[in-house]
Amino acid sequence: MGINCLRTDIHNELKHLAMDEDGAGPPARLHLGQEVVLCDPVEGKLTMKNGEIHDADLIVGSDGIHSVIRTSVLGYEQKALSTGISTFRCLFDAAKLENLPDMEWFTDGPLTFIRRVTSPEQRLGVLGLHPCRCGKVINVVAHHTDERDQDKHEWSEIATVEEVVEQLKHFHPRYLNFLKLGEQPIVRWQLRALPLLPTWINGRTALLGDAAHATLPTLGQGAAMAFEDAATIGCLIPMGTHREDIPARLEAYQSLRKARGELVNRESLEQATIPSKRGLWFRSRELRTVIHGYDAVEITKKYFKDHFEGAT
Ligand SMILES: Cc1cc2nc3c(=O)[nH]c(=O)nc-3n(C[C@H](O)[C@H](O)[C@H](O)COP(=O)(O)OP(=O)(O)OC[C@H]3O[C@@H](n4cnc5c(N)ncnc54)[C@H](O)[C@@H]3O)c2cc1C
Repeated sequence: MGINCLRTDIHNELKHLAMDEDGAGPPARLHLGQEVVLCDPVEGKLTMKNGEIHDADLIVGSDGIHSVIRTSVLGYEQKALSTGISTFRCLFDAAKLENLPDMEWFTDGPLTFIRRVTSPEQRLGVLGLHPCRCGKVINVVAHHTDERDQDKHEWSEIATVEEVVEQLKHFHPRYLNFLKLGEQPIVRWQLRALPLLPTWINGRTALLGDAAHATLPTLGQGAAMAFEDAATIGCLIPMGTHREDIPARLEAYQSLRKARGELVNRESLEQATIPSKRGLWFRSRELRTVIHGYDAVEITKKYFKDHFEGAT
């Protein structure tokens, strides 16, 4: 069974863990509104939009699907490619479900389980209702074939309820009733994927999360992989690591993480775009075991012990 968390809740918890005075180690400092425009990955220099230049022993490019650091690591710009798939997302308060007709398919049973309805048609149509905060808030996602020229549109746009209903009109009306409850903004996100990259590292700089392996949310593993990447870097580069040791630690990071990130990247894309593979994530216990049965911290600690113990 999966546990659903709202992004804001995860961010708040991460901030608390990283920045609280009584946490492990010195509290991290967060500088908001600071845009990186350039990076020298080998020397470890970051140039900010305001002209400041910062020196670093280690640069972790966790700047998402549109990563600037990725361009510096690769030496060329690699955009995430359009897939012809988009998704609508919105939230609503679960209390509003009371007294709404034809919602038994959703409200019968615990309000903590994901409900997922797929379209029987060849075109992609997936409607997911994900209860969060113990069933108090419902997160709605609706993946659909996007017949627009995606490159001519913004990657995320505000959508109207009418546009959503038009896209989902092939679903039985009982699955669409909750749309009356959706709270603005409803956002239409283009779902894009990065091709596999030749490298995730360069000198003292590494890519992490979507910057390295942005893909579709078919397996629901994008953020999970970013957490695993981060845990791996954390275990390989503990406090006190010498500057000159960083490049070798990042080689280790790449050898531990790249194949796994790429597996999730490719499967997420193929299971959305190849009709015979649709739904494989839910049918294949083997694949779910490969993904869920992996302990990035334990594996990295063992790797560290075998390769670097005593070196720090
Ligand atoms: C519709 C949808 C549904 C999803 N569902 C799931 C799911 O169910 N489960 C799951 O695990 N994943 C899911 N994902 C994927 C998940 O959201 C991403 O994989 C995850 O957010 C990646 O985290 P990240 O830290 O790498 O990047 P991001 O979350 O994109 O964070 C990047 C950060 O870098 C900052 N930044 C960007 N450029 C710069 C710059 N130049 N200078 C300074 N800062 C910069 C941004 O402001 C942002 O704060 C979904 C994604 C989408 C689009």
